Amino acid sequence: PSRSFPRVRMAVRSGAVSVAPILTNLQKDCATSLPVLSHVADAMAADMRAGLAADGGSNLKMILSYVDSLPSGNEKGLFYALDLGGTNFRVLRVQLGGKEERVIATEFEQVSISQELMFGTSEQLFDFIASGLAKFAQKEGGKFHLPSGRMREIGFTFSFPVKQLSIDSGMLIKWTKGFAVSGTAGKDVVACLNEAMERLGLEMRVSALVNDTVGTLAGARYWDDDVMVAVILGTGTNACYVERNDAIPKQTGHASASGRTIVNTEWGAFSNGLPLTVYDREMDAASINPGEQIFEKTISGMYLGEIVRRVLLKMTEEGDLFGKSVPVKLSNPFILRTPDLCAMQQDSSADLQTVGSILYSVVGLESNFSARRIVVDVCDTIVKRGGRLAGAGIVGILQKMEEDSRGLIFGKRTVVAMDGGLYENYPQYRRYLQDAVTELLGTEISKNVVIEHSKDGSGIGAALLAASNSKYEHEF
Ligand code: BGC
Ligand code: MG
Repeated sequence: PSRSFPRVRMAVRSGAVSVAPILTNLQKDCATSLPVLSHVADAMAADMRAGLAADGGSNLKMILSYVDSLPSGNEKGLFYALDLGGTNFRVLRVQLGGKEERVIATEFEQVSISQELMFGTSEQLFDFIASGLAKFAQKEGGKFHLPSGRMREIGFTFSFPVKQLSIDSGMLIKWTKGFAVSGTAGKDVVACLNEAMERLGLEMRVSALVNDTVGTLAGARYWDDDVMVAVILGTGTNACYVERNDAIPKQTGHASASGRTIVNTEWGAFSNGLPLTVYDREMDAASINPGEQIFEKTISGMYLGEIVRRVLLKMTEEGDLFGKSVPVKLSNPFILRTPDLCAMQQDSSADLQTVGSILYSVVGLESNFSARRIVVDVCDTIVKRGGRLAGAGIVGILQKMEEDSRGLIFGKRTVVAMDGGLYENYPQYRRYLQDAVTELLGTEISKNVVIEHSKDGSGIGAALLAASNSKYEHEF
């Protein structure tokens, strides 16, 4: 390939340096042996308990969702869902037909969230959401029917840490995943949406405000009663699960009739005992939320590509594997994305041609075969660590639940509903996650733990929760 990218000369370099030690050190620092994983699982369980004991008791916020009854299948009628969480914003409507007919019809639209919106004002963001919703609602067609005299009801999936105040209100604690919208933190996001809808003269009402994990749990539970945990592995990461009220010391007031509450762990903030590297520390220091979301920064889709980029930059600066100079592109934060890693890891050609062309087009690196092999090893090291740590986190949650209810988790079929682009699209990541779960639980118990993809469950899940928390008399 021609040298079409500007290249920067390194000041002084003392001859050819092998990158092998850089790779070896990386692999050593990222190692996730069984003892490391079981330490992480134990720490996750302990942090969960501390977060349930008192607000602020742990890195894990253990947010009470105010969702105390999961979908029964009886839900009926037309409901909307909004989903704001990462790269995309989605609107959805569903006509629910009760036990027999279930989901009669569903339609959705999706738009991506621009950088301008992610760094804009709260009003700009909520005006954008409300106008997307308004346009979509106008196109409501024949298969959908709203009884007269009713307002359209919305399940609002808002995938950031929110201190729930009730099922239909909650305050944004902080943004994550690269969002830096000003003026939302500390506010009720449902009020923000309502104000934007009023500005447009749009009459709809939020009946349920839920995290994406909670929407996923509800959506998966609609089809399968054994679902007890939901995990998102996408741009960001998080998990929620069904908790017993008597295991939530900090819960005062709204103890639910069902005796159960869904708890949103906000596990992205976990950090105990993680195997971290100099690349992780530097990425964290340069991030817009330094010191926060360390688990998320180690295992989720927004960050895996960036960690690999930092390793390759180091290899290029200190070793000569990629030639004698550092391509300018390689110094751009976040230019290498997790889907690029994934594409490189799927390359099974003899000369790793796809790896070569991605390295050249995305980061401007010219590579020979041995350089490509090293790059694939770097990707694999980071992805393996991420997948295995995610698996350890899941085991931590299951372990905590099992300790409180001997046999009720490990002694019968228990389903963990998974969603998010990273889980959905990265086969190696998925396999590493499953391997870690099996290693930690042992083959017998892990037969009972079913890790299942629940595709786009959170949209329908939010609509179902809007239905079960409808402001109107239930027809059923
Ligand atoms: C947020 C969570 C969310 C997760 C997955 C994290 O950054 O804090 O609330 O569930 O991303 O979308
Ligand atoms: Mg999402």
